[in-house]
Amino acid sequence: MTATGIDPATFAASLGVPTETDPALVKQKSRDFYWYSPVLKRQLRGVSADLIAMPRDEAEVIAVLRQCFAAGVPVTPRGGGTGNYGQAMPLAGGVVLDLLGLDAIAPVSGGVLRVGAGARLGEIEARCRPLGWELRMFPSTRRTATIGGFVAGGSGGVGSINFGQLRDTGTLLGARVVTMEAAPRVLTLRGAEVNRVHHAYGTNGVITELEIAMAPAQDWIDYAVGFDGFMALARFTEGVARSDGIAKRLCTAVDAGAAAYFRPLREAMRPGESVGLFLIAAQSAEAFEEMLHAGGGRVCRRLTAAEAEGQVPAFEFTWNHTTLQALKSDRSITYLQTRFPGPDHLAAVADIIATYGEEVPMHLEFIRVGGAVACAGLPLVRFTDEARLRSIIATFEARGCTVFDPHTYVLEDGGMKQTDPAQLDFKRRADPAGLLNPGKMRGWSAEAAACASS
Ligand SMILES: Cc1cc2nc3c(=O)[nH]c(=O)nc-3n(C[C@H](O)[C@H](O)[C@H](O)COP(=O)(O)OP(=O)(O)OC[C@H]3O[C@@H](n4cnc5c(N)ncnc54)[C@H](O)[C@@H]3O)c2cc1C
Repeated sequence: MTATGIDPATFAASLGVPTETDPALVKQKSRDFYWYSPVLKRQLRGVSADLIAMPRDEAEVIAVLRQCFAAGVPVTPRGGGTGNYGQAMPLAGGVVLDLLGLDAIAPVSGGVLRVGAGARLGEIEARCRPLGWELRMFPSTRRTATIGGFVAGGSGGVGSINFGQLRDTGTLLGARVVTMEAAPRVLTLRGAEVNRVHHAYGTNGVITELEIAMAPAQDWIDYAVGFDGFMALARFTEGVARSDGIAKRLCTAVDAGAAAYFRPLREAMRPGESVGLFLIAAQSAEAFEEMLHAGGGRVCRRLTAAEAEGQVPAFEFTWNHTTLQALKSDRSITYLQTRFPGPDHLAAVADIIATYGEEVPMHLEFIRVGGAVACAGLPLVRFTDEARLRSIIATFEARGCTVFDPHTYVLEDGGMKQTDPAQLDFKRRADPAGLLNPGKMRGWSAEAAACASS
């Protein structure tokens, strides 16, 4: 018997879907990239589900949720397991619901894609590009992450320089969501309603299908460029981000202290260079390179799509992959997620660099927010202890930066800082017993505790 009071093998047999009960494999699928954070690494090390259920379609999702509700067993949905904050880790044990089987991809129609929640983003791009369409945005984990996990756990990424973030009106068009009840219902959310389950960590419903707006596919040139100084690179990168005539998908600036960990680029880079990573449309490549030379930079690596086959793509040095490249060489590295205050973002960046230097090697991602270029930061942090980490976060905040804390598994403490009333209200209706990914939504836990004590 486990803490949830079930015998995993007996319970698995009752579900009527493929399952896994081998403790080593169950533990493996109870993990995500929580270990990026030394704080979460300590807190979540022992977490494991009792078993994994692997439904192949929506009917099987409903069957699993019905059985789990009847037995009072918690369920944690899972896509590719690439979340960073222990999002997909089953704090209360129970069942991990592996959604990779729901991977149907319909042909794009009128620029709109209907897709199973478990479809991997890389597969979606591979299937849609020959038809002339591509994802509006994707996380740097494109190869392994699912569209359901991106919508439930992510926020934006490559492409956000054009289309903002997932939550911005017009990208997420619809979702089918299964509720956790005695008789699970399938709810259809349209338009802004999808934000009830977007970035809710799977705490208030299981997404089975999504409808998303796509972008016309373009031929992208994959660039790594070098600059002798980080601030010159940052100015150039912001300049590209603001150049409306240059068609782009990615504008990233990485300080030499972080770029030194980019082993696959080492031969192309000069020692001590800061590195910019870009995806630039072929039609804009000449203008981009002209700007680059005028800004004092040089091309380190330039790949067409065909040449990029078999190479580590530029985007796998960006977003949270910058940290991953560093962690491959130095396990003491961690990171922060922040947004620098405008309008002079780079003054705020320079201020942080002057304060922390090599302790916090800088990494910037330029994105669009509310129609304007904004400057997000995912700087590395050379970790010493939690008190120092908290003091660095406090300094960022004191200088006007918004910090999206990656060292907590609590939904509200990460980005929003407060419970989203629409998400909480949806949870009351879709998961009345609080069995979906318990322990992650503080607003719900607080409400449940208040009910218990009254
Ligand atoms: C190296 C690296 C780079 C990354 N880069 C980015 C980035 O650029 N942008 C970004 O936004 N994030 C990024 N992330 C975080 C993560 O990769 C993304 O959020 C990714 O989209 C998660 O997809 P997944 O399928 O792996 O989800 P999982 O990790 O499996 O799940 C994420 C969350 O969603 C829930 N969930 C999963 N599927 C469903 C479903 N069908 N219904 C309901 N809930 C569900 C899970 O319970 C969990 O809470 C990165 C992470 C790593 C490790």
